[in-house]
Amino acid sequence: MVAIALDDIVKAPKALLHDHLDGGLRPATIVDLAGAVGHQLPHTDPDELGRWFVAAADSGSLERYLETFAHTVAVMQTAPALHRVAAECALDLAADGVVYAEVRFAPEQHLSRGLTLDQVVEAVLAGFADGAAQAAEAGRQIRIGTLLTAMRHAARSQEIAELAVRYRDAGVVGFDIAGAEAGFPPTRHLDAFEYLQRENFHFTIHAGEAFGLPSIWQAIQWCGADRLGHGVRIVDDVTPGSSPVLGRLAAYVRDKRIPLELCPSSNVQTGAATSIAEHPIGLLRDLRFRVTVNTDNRLMSGTSMSREMALLVEAFGYGWAELQWFTINAMKSAFIPFDERLAIINEVIKPAYAKLI
Ligand SMILES: [Zn+2]
Repeated sequence: MVAIALDDIVKAPKALLHDHLDGGLRPATIVDLAGAVGHQLPHTDPDELGRWFVAAADSGSLERYLETFAHTVAVMQTAPALHRVAAECALDLAADGVVYAEVRFAPEQHLSRGLTLDQVVEAVLAGFADGAAQAAEAGRQIRIGTLLTAMRHAARSQEIAELAVRYRDAGVVGFDIAGAEAGFPPTRHLDAFEYLQRENFHFTIHAGEAFGLPSIWQAIQWCGADRLGHGVRIVDDVTPGSSPVLGRLAAYVRDKRIPLELCPSSNVQTGAATSIAEHPIGLLRDLRFRVTVNTDNRLMSGTSMSREMALLVEAFGYGWAELQWFTINAMKSAFIPFDERLAIINEVIKPAYAKLI
């Protein structure tokens, strides 16, 4: 079988569920915005700055990794800046052939220059709409759903959950919690999750990335998460071998078709996987978990949705059938209404891959 080229993957429709707005800025935009607010950057040449982000994320030092977000978040503190970053995000994803994306961000991190939570959300939603409209004019359709994230070490999850529900008819399709797992179990935010369930709203939880099975178990069985952000450590509950044996939790996750938002490059950078070739995605796919492929932080990983798929093609010898499977898995797991998901699967994804397979 001939390996699929990156350029061809770019042309195929893709669906992305786990992408952080503050992890996907264009380096040139960071330089521009930092200049406007007088924020000091490690480099002012966009190419050098781009390399600095990847190197810092690659370094294995949590301190350096977190420093990368200090710079992106610092330049995303005004409505025009948030609008621009969101519009460029939509344009970049559309140019990469992403037809459906859920992009997440934490409104509470964008208040340092006086914006209110509502103003932050409105600026980002307007930016996504603007970027998607510009992409459509250029002949590339993209639908973006927004997820609002609460920081797991903070205490604003109930407020952010209420904010998400308030904007549910304006483009916010779900809720998430993110941040350091160790010491901050998702059960700290139980009130927010119970509120969201009473509101018939959707949420995912970052769990099972750095931290193992207890975090995944809590996210699902205590908090009621619809999906797992990463969830890659679910393999700790699988005994490998010629016929792998699933523990109770892994079996539950697979039986209930709970989507795993796997992010290959990011998982390697954070140490959740040792390499792409050794990434548990190979085993989890073979075992038919509801696996999806995602970017997490395009800037820090120097990646794109197409590149993540190309890396898997190279490491596991996947063909178009597998890439379609990942794409349909993601679309089935999206937080937009069922009929809209089905329309994208049947009218966009399947016809395009039918020509490729
Ligand atoms: Zn993430």
